[in-house]
Amino acid sequence: MEPVLCLNCYDFFPPSPRHKNQSYCMKPECRRAKKAAWKRAKMQTDPQFRKDQQLSNKKWVQNNPGFWRRYRKRNPEKTERNRILQRIRNQRRRAKRQKTGVVCSPLIAKVDASIPNRFGMVGQFWLVPVIAKVDPLKVNIVEIPMCYQ
Ligand SMILES: [Zn+2]
Repeated sequence: MEPVLCLNCYDFFPPSPRHKNQSYCMKPECRRAKKAAWKRAKMQTDPQFRKDQQLSNKKWVQNNPGFWRRYRKRNPEKTERNRILQRIRNQRRRAKRQKTGVVCSPLIAKVDASIPNRFGMVGQFWLVPVIAKVDPLKVNIVEIPMCYQ
């Protein structure tokens, strides 16, 4: 079988003959990424699943007071990223309420420093649409070696 490019780590891997359309390799971090992608999709399409998750998260927060305060202190770069995305959501909400549809926000926020791999990862970026009403899109920009062009 043809090797497949993993959607998380961008390494080629031999796909399992039992799993059609396998798009993530078997590394633990890629399995986690696959599960997170599945959950994101499920949250958008299944209202009951979303409701159950919200209830579960609420219970967890009640049982772990102070977790998010400590998390923000430990991860200032993620805190900053979330502030930027929340600011964008607030501006969108305001623009929708005023029915102007005009959103003044930073267009692109660089999130992570570059991660080296064999494709020469340049970095991860958030593409934030200004006109179209879709969610910000996380993109990985990689250098493609001459042999793949
Ligand atoms: Zn992978």
